[in-house]
Amino acid sequence: MSARILVVDDLEANRRLLEAKLTADYYDVLMAQRGEEAVQLAKREKPDLILLDVMMPGGIDGYEACRRLKAMPETRHIPVVILTTLDDRDNKVRGLQAGAEEFLTKPIDDVQLMARVKSLLSLKVVTDELRAREANGRRLGVIGEDLRPDPLEQLRLSAGNVLVVDDNPTQIKRITAALGIEHRITVLGGEANSAPPDLVVVSVTSRNFDGFRVIARMRSGEPTRHLPILAIVDADDQKRAIRALELGAHDIIVRPIDEDEIIARARTLMRRKRYMDALRSRLDQSLELAITDQLTNLYNRRFLTAQLGPLVQRAQCGGDNVSVMVIDIDHFKRCNDTFGHDVGDAVLREFAVRLATNTRPSDYACRMGGEEFVVIMPRTPGDIACLAAERLRRNICAAPFSIPSLSEPIDVTVSIGVACSERADDSADLLLKRADEALYEAKQAGRNRVIGRTASQAA
Ligand code: GH3
Ligand code: MG
Ligand code: MG
Repeated sequence: MSARILVVDDLEANRRLLEAKLTADYYDVLMAQRGEEAVQLAKREKPDLILLDVMMPGGIDGYEACRRLKAMPETRHIPVVILTTLDDRDNKVRGLQAGAEEFLTKPIDDVQLMARVKSLLSLKVVTDELRAREANGRRLGVIGEDLRPDPLEQLRLSAGNVLVVDDNPTQIKRITAALGIEHRITVLGGEANSAPPDLVVVSVTSRNFDGFRVIARMRSGEPTRHLPILAIVDADDQKRAIRALELGAHDIIVRPIDEDEIIARARTLMRRKRYMDALRSRLDQSLELAITDQLTNLYNRRFLTAQLGPLVQRAQCGGDNVSVMVIDIDHFKRCNDTFGHDVGDAVLREFAVRLATNTRPSDYACRMGGEEFVVIMPRTPGDIACLAAERLRRNICAAPFSIPSLSEPIDVTVSIGVACSERADDSADLLLKRADEALYEAKQAGRNRVIGRTASQAA
């Protein structure tokens, strides 16, 4: 689907002109004449980008419309480009302070327009992807409805780390003076260091180092890929400006650098980065929640199923064998009945700690539910798996469990069934079933023991 762009201008001629330019590049265009109308339309239609005229007689002006768009959760993520006839700095700075991502001066230069539109839309693709994944997670119940205020809402702009890549002393002084009020500045003469900052300011006008190379390197390196980059260009050097944007700079600023402008641009870029970082980390957290058992912090059944299937399949295609042990705490019901459910929970947690510390880093320890646990052991033959199970069993029964609320430690034992993917027609289910059968046998035989049900022993 082509991107949808909302054009807001009170003059029909201006709207038509932009519409023609944008449709020629296969964008879908929506149009509004007034600020209020634009805000309503944006809320309803959720365009991918908004081009917003500043001067609109009657009603709210472009700055106010922008402020309102940036204040609403439904529209806050849509990039806004402010269109102004006045090329003075007051207007630029006002626009950026209203939260606009960008501004363009009329008459609008085609190349500038397309470079900006392209760069903002490509950024929006990433934000949309993150937002969609989050919405999906919420729908699936993986991300809970958070009743606390939206953490994104609480993103305040505090001091950030700014890396300045430049070799022009006057310019560096000016940047440091402007940005140093709010942020920590590191200056570098052309080489990127390893500590990722929150914003990188790169000059592409220096003869001593290649600023384009710095941008390209940052955009392709894993730790720096998501960093916002502000490129410094010469006022009349449109070619370099476009090249910088094409290479992945998120924004440009012309020389001589205006201090208020760079402050405002730095704010916008860092706000956007923090918004994306917050989305990403919320996503990571919810993914982690989705595969973690809340009581023990071990992996949960969902994770176990997702991991085991492919491992068994790979073993069948000539890969290494995978073994599983199914562990069940002996007479756990008695523990609950005697000491109460909370003590039962504490026993499960202590068991999980011992389990996690007694399995290899390449193994996966999971809680299946209740007092039943499974360890997946990739690249492990049955006899080795049985030895590992025996080691674990001994560790559990050798030292009784100390529970904070109890004066006396509790004796705990486990029974373990082991199975290995040695059969040609194996599946994750069959493997677990064999281990379960072995576990049942261990219980029947008197508990506190390990029984291996490897392929040759199976019925
Ligand atoms: P066996 O040796 O045959 O395994 O006997 P058992 O008592 O361990 O097995 P049974 O399946 O009869 O009982 C398991 C008990 O575990 C019953 C259930 O209330 C308790 N349980 C399951 N989940 C939890 C939990 O999250 N916390 C606590 N405290 N108890 C749990
Ligand atoms: Mg049990
Ligand atoms: Mg049980």
